[in-house]
Amino acid sequence: MASDLVQIANDSEIKKRLEAERIRLRKIAGLDPPHHFHRPVERAFTAEERSRVTILFGGFTWKHEDLIRAVFEGCGYRCEKLPVPDVPAFQIGKEFGNNGQCNPTYFTVGNLVQYLQVLEKQGLSRQEILDNYVFFTAGSCGPCRFGMYEAEYRFALKNAGFDGFRVLLFKDSDGIKAESGEPGLKFTVDFGFGMLNALHLGDVINDLIYQIRPFEVTKGDTDRVFHETVEGLCEDLKNRKSFEIEKCAPNWAKPKFKSNKILRYTFNAFGKWYEHMWGQDYLNALRTAREKLNSIEVDRTRVKPVVKITGEFWAQLTEGDGNFHMFEFLEREGAQVLVEPICTWAAYLMYQAKANAIAKWPVNRPHAHPKWHEAKKHFANYIGLRKKLWAIGAGERTFNFFYNRTIRHLGEIAHPLVPQTELAELAHPFYNQFARGGEGHLEVGKNVYYTIHKRCHMVLALKPFGCMPSSQSDGVQSAVINKFKDMIFLPIETSGEGEVNAHSRVQMALGEAKVKARAEFDQCLKSTGKSLEQIRRYIDEHLELKRPFYHVPHREGIAGTAAQFILHVSDRINRDRRFSKGTRVTGVAIPAASGD
Ligand code: SF4
Repeated sequence: MASDLVQIANDSEIKKRLEAERIRLRKIAGLDPPHHFHRPVERAFTAEERSRVTILFGGFTWKHEDLIRAVFEGCGYRCEKLPVPDVPAFQIGKEFGNNGQCNPTYFTVGNLVQYLQVLEKQGLSRQEILDNYVFFTAGSCGPCRFGMYEAEYRFALKNAGFDGFRVLLFKDSDGIKAESGEPGLKFTVDFGFGMLNALHLGDVINDLIYQIRPFEVTKGDTDRVFHETVEGLCEDLKNRKSFEIEKCAPNWAKPKFKSNKILRYTFNAFGKWYEHMWGQDYLNALRTAREKLNSIEVDRTRVKPVVKITGEFWAQLTEGDGNFHMFEFLEREGAQVLVEPICTWAAYLMYQAKANAIAKWPVNRPHAHPKWHEAKKHFANYIGLRKKLWAIGAGERTFNFFYNRTIRHLGEIAHPLVPQTELAELAHPFYNQFARGGEGHLEVGKNVYYTIHKRCHMVLALKPFGCMPSSQSDGVQSAVINKFKDMIFLPIETSGEGEVNAHSRVQMALGEAKVKARAEFDQCLKSTGKSLEQIRRYIDEHLELKRPFYHVPHREGIAGTAAQFILHVSDRINRDRRFSKGTRVTGVAIPAASGD
């Protein structure tokens, strides 16, 4: 004992013992030798494999997915979409994934594993699956769990026995430029513009379906016609001839294009752009689609509350168990659903890139503290930022232009993208626009936007269980509701279970929205001084009013489709002498129609 004390009192012995203990504890904690995580090196997806390997993808609506698949196939890839994630997929995700993930992670990761398991049951060996399939998905650097998706896919695939299955990534921070590093999947001009068209078409068609179906006269017409139409558009995207300057140029110029790579590339890039956007093939396909869709008969005098869907990216998009089949449920309950386009998210990324460039410029500018007489440096500081903003601004304008063009060619009733500046300004008093993750300030901004512009009767936010950014928004929304007293806002947490509870909460809020929609309609009808029968009689005699693409000018301050419609029909009756004869027009003020 005494000798022990002597030894411990000795400084060098204390250090020795401390070191020994440190080594022991580090070993127990698995820290010795230090083991840093490295992204696993994956087998490349090579160009030679293109004819044999199938690219899997999923996570959107069936319209987006069919169109995206057509573009993949048109560019020479084998491609298959995954089924809509369901509860068994969610359970598989939980079984093989990490604990504490958000709900969409479990659904999407489990969905991929489930699909591979089905392939295995159909007789493919694991090696065949690893060799003949790859998965293509979006990735991010965070800050929410979106940044962990890639790792989650790999982890769950490994746990499920598919170690080595290839996951190709498209990052939101890098955009379409992001080469996956795999020469098997190349982002060519044709591929890029094809995907842009597919995205815009998918969004506009999705919007149209939810605008038309609640008012269809013959049940099932909308789904049938839209399926046929999407098939036709897919054929066009898939079989479109690619523009090649070497083929189109006059004979005397062909050798020049053959020998000069830069010249060939430049002409091809512009030619392909033109062909994708204004080519007769594409415009004819849109014309055929519009005529087909316009054949659906609608009755827009049905009074329905308009429910705007917001929330987390995936939860507000999926049409299955991932959000309790919410859109189907709402329509069954008599509502008209206002869906959110994916393009809002793309527009948000561009807007944020601009805002971040401005905010960070004092740090990033090339000359930190130029003296007052150093004009060159001041100019460099000025032009450096402007160049960035002009480039992103040009991207934004082009993106919006083509989105609006798709709307114009497909009946002109789909909603344009909401201005990002306004969303940021409306949200900013409640939610800092630089707080990143998930939908950022969009959830709050949209809630305020749709309420103050009276574009809906109720806002339903679909928030996945375990979603960090949505929880932040939720906290803020109570302050928002306090400020906008007539707002009907309902956040619903989506998870793999609890569907009945969620539906019953929506039903209660929807009851209020129905009352609001009915009161608005009654007031509008009263303001026309006509009876509903009179209006319906007029509609029966003017069949163009039963077509979905008949344009009803928007009146500010009125959310309901039926209310907007009867006001417009009433205006037409008033203008039409034959009908206005004998019709009493009251002096009740109604908002004027824009562009009527
Ligand atoms: S936004 Fe929410 S639900 Fe979506 S990935 Fe991030 S944490 Fe998950």
